[in-house]
Amino acid sequence: MREVRGRFAPTPSGNMHIGNALCYLLAWLSARSQGGGVVLRFEDTDLMRMRPGAVEQTLSDLLWLGLDWDAGPAPDENAGPYFQSCRTEIYDRFFAELRDRGAVYPCFCSRRDVRLASAPHAEDRAAVYPGTCRDLSPAQAAERMKSRPPAWRLRLEDKTVSFRDRLYGELSCEILREYGDFPIRRADGVYCYQFTVALDDALMGVSEVLRSRDLLSSAPWQVYIQRLFGFEPPVFVHIPLLLDADGQRMAKRDFSLSLKEVRRHYSTEEVIGRLGFLAGLTDEPRPCTAAQLLPLYAPEKLPREDIVLPRGLFAQCGEV
Ligand code: GLU
Repeated sequence: MREVRGRFAPTPSGNMHIGNALCYLLAWLSARSQGGGVVLRFEDTDLMRMRPGAVEQTLSDLLWLGLDWDAGPAPDENAGPYFQSCRTEIYDRFFAELRDRGAVYPCFCSRRDVRLASAPHAEDRAAVYPGTCRDLSPAQAAERMKSRPPAWRLRLEDKTVSFRDRLYGELSCEILREYGDFPIRRADGVYCYQFTVALDDALMGVSEVLRSRDLLSSAPWQVYIQRLFGFEPPVFVHIPLLLDADGQRMAKRDFSLSLKEVRRHYSTEEVIGRLGFLAGLTDEPRPCTAAQLLPLYAPEKLPREDIVLPRGLFAQCGEV
């Protein structure tokens, strides 16, 4: 049996909000309740989007929540293989292999490539790429490369991609028709989200990916990349989104429910108790530690619909 290994994969582009905290708590509970380990990896390939201090704040928030990890940067360490920005040589190696195999092609269609470099969210999932640059001859591609560097797209085979999600069950899709060729490297040389996540999860031995359901549409691409290199894909757990009391999606730019702010008003146990309650693990928001939730965790208990934050649950943050 494969050793269970979950992960936290924060993008240090801002402060984690209470929805991110819920996700990390559940990732931790799921892995630990199966006797498994946890990896912490910072997804900071797109350095323009990163915010100074976000790494330190994330480390501090995770520790404050009582969520530990077995592999990843130590709390006072600010470099290492668990930062994607330090893994370019690894990505280069896998990219070179794909080029040698003829599995990627240069693409000169701009914009969409750039947008796809960051984790897409369900409603703005990119349109299926029509294959404009797929059949350029080597001479045509070389000619165009003289005027601008290309992005690189994966040339998908026309096949069914299947994977398992603990909440959605067995899923499959016709990847070429439904998703289309996708960029794995931008024209500026930055490797795209799908590629780095798929490789890192595989190379870091991640067997379980628990994250919010807005990334469900990324799973087929990631599974495809992993199988391309002979890696066994993880099992997924795509959890519902935590929406604010108005039913709106939370974003890191919303200050009020950032964990940094919540920490000013509530204790660790009060926050964990509320998160456990929102996740359906308890029937009231009683203060408790993450470890105390371990025996109560079961994926079947998790809500299937997006969770709307009950008004007043974090009233002391000025949240109504
Ligand atoms: N780094 C992404 C985020 O912080 C998560 C990516 C993933 O879980 O695959 O939103």
